[in-house]
Amino acid sequence: MHDIEVTGVLQKQAWADNVLPPVEQVRPGLWSIPVPMPHNPLRYVLVYLFETGTGLVMVDAGWNTDEAWSALNAGIAQAGGSITDVEAVLVTHIHPDHYGLAGRVREASGAWIGLHPEDAVLLDDRYADTTDLLRRMTELLEASGVPLEKRPDLANSSMEVRGLVFTAKPDVLFNDGQKFTFGGWDLTTLWTPGHSPGHVCLWSDQHQLLLSGDHVLPRITSNISVHTQQFPNPLGDFLNSLMKLRAFAPEEILPAHEYRFRNLGARLDGLIAHHEERLIEILDLLGPEGATAWDLTTRLTWSRPFDQILDYMQRAANGETLAHLVLLETRGLVVRSEGHPFIFSKTNP
Ligand SMILES: [Zn+2]
Ligand SMILES: [Zn+2]
Repeated sequence: MHDIEVTGVLQKQAWADNVLPPVEQVRPGLWSIPVPMPHNPLRYVLVYLFETGTGLVMVDAGWNTDEAWSALNAGIAQAGGSITDVEAVLVTHIHPDHYGLAGRVREASGAWIGLHPEDAVLLDDRYADTTDLLRRMTELLEASGVPLEKRPDLANSSMEVRGLVFTAKPDVLFNDGQKFTFGGWDLTTLWTPGHSPGHVCLWSDQHQLLLSGDHVLPRITSNISVHTQQFPNPLGDFLNSLMKLRAFAPEEILPAHEYRFRNLGARLDGLIAHHEERLIEILDLLGPEGATAWDLTTRLTWSRPFDQILDYMQRAANGETLAHLVLLETRGLVVRSEGHPFIFSKTNP
């Protein structure tokens, strides 16, 4: 099988050296600015900056810390601009490392913020009054078979990242296929639900560039989880959203993490194959008596031993297992029992 070609060579080298990659000019008038995410395995988010002739348009913003804010400002200065020049912030999805600083940028510049409506409706529930979110999360953990004593830690494990979002409502809700023209740049939104319900990629037809957000990353697979702020079958949506990108043959892919690359088809093949293998691994683990999602999660292979994984990652892992189980249900290969916790078993043992 052919493979991707890494074009963000400096970014990949920086990854190997465990340092922040440089601010780079990706095309004339298009910049890539790494905004640091300390103590997080993703290390940084890549903010893209377009020169429009009258100002700047940003895609994604970084999370809301002073360190990230300084790096963003310094990066824009290196590109020859200033935060006050920003006219718009297009955000690929709701997660703190993408949406977190958008409000602060708007306050400094008067820029408008764009987000897909399916993510916009989740903002208050996720970042303002989270009482109900926590209740629903605890219920989901119970239904998954997470032991009682472990539920509070897992339920609360994402609450600390709330501070990484500057609370702000978007000004523009963009739907699928919405076209924007900024100076010499054209950007069309491609709705790609899966990683989040309102995730969008951005496509420049004129420049044959794909800004893939967290939907397609060159090395890691993004988290696709069943949780209370998701559509019912996120992995099914994600795979469909990968298929949607089959229609495009970008000159280069500009992801929100890691490094730029070429050969989208090879990466789509790799991601689809990864999830198909995981589906088989889960089916193989389901013995005649069935299992809960949590039981399967602790028995699946992860990048490190399960008991050494941090709480929020354990919860994400459980959500991923559930996402695979739901997809297996929709394919008619698995059924779940009535009542909590759900016991999943094969329809054809
Ligand atoms: Zn994300
Ligand atoms: Zn991200």
